[in-house]
Amino acid sequence: MTNARAARIAENVSAVRSRIAAAAVRSGRDANDVSLVAVTKYVGLPEIEALIASGCYDLGESRPQSLWEKAAALSHTPVRWHLIGHLQRNKIRRTIPHLYRLHSGDSLRLLSEVDQEALTIDHPLDVLLEINISGDLTKHGFSSDELFAAAAQAAKLPRVRVRGLMAMSGLESSTTQTRQQFAAVRMLLDELNSRSIFPGKLTELSMGMSDDYESAILEGATMVRVGSALFEGLDV
Ligand SMILES: *Cc1c(COP(=O)(O)O)cnc(C)c1O
Repeated sequence: MTNARAARIAENVSAVRSRIAAAAVRSGRDANDVSLVAVTKYVGLPEIEALIASGCYDLGESRPQSLWEKAAALSHTPVRWHLIGHLQRNKIRRTIPHLYRLHSGDSLRLLSEVDQEALTIDHPLDVLLEINISGDLTKHGFSSDELFAAAAQAAKLPRVRVRGLMAMSGLESSTTQTRQQFAAVRMLLDELNSRSIFPGKLTELSMGMSDDYESAILEGATMVRVGSALFEGLDV
């Protein structure tokens, strides 16, 4: 990796962080109330090392296998790994030990197997329930109709600690629709809290990617998952 590439990544990180901070303040919060999960699925270890050097310790991968490989290679670093894509049930065992947080809690069957595995290895796991808010057929996640019954079941799994919700805007959605989808996810979180389905208050909303993270923050996102904006100008 050339110094110029590393410098470009540092600049991109700093630009994204400033925009996150400005949007957080516009939404009536502190800059620190919104965290950046840097999505590394497009890049290899040199670029990830440049991210780490720029202070990004929360990293997201969408494919379990890539996460295993990168986590093993970077086990000497303080990185916290977030799985943001679908977890196939036959990959649970190899994935959980690496995870700081599972954003893609997308079915009860998955969550109950994660709970079993978390018991076996004594590693309780923070999880977000993924909501398919756009209704795109290609997306995973609970529909808003399914959510409350599923949440009541998930609340019974002792080693799956549900912290909040995760969602993606629709592929074909306009800016206005995107914003409405994020607002709808926030309302679902409020509704889960007002029904006291979980013992503690759910606080996390993982929503917003390179094209829409500012809208997501304005609607209450506490974590944004940003990939391509961090690698602009790099030809990755
Ligand atoms: C790839 C991916 C992202 C990051 O997307 P960018 O548009 O590159 O920022 C965020 N969330 C999920 C679930 C992803 O798969």
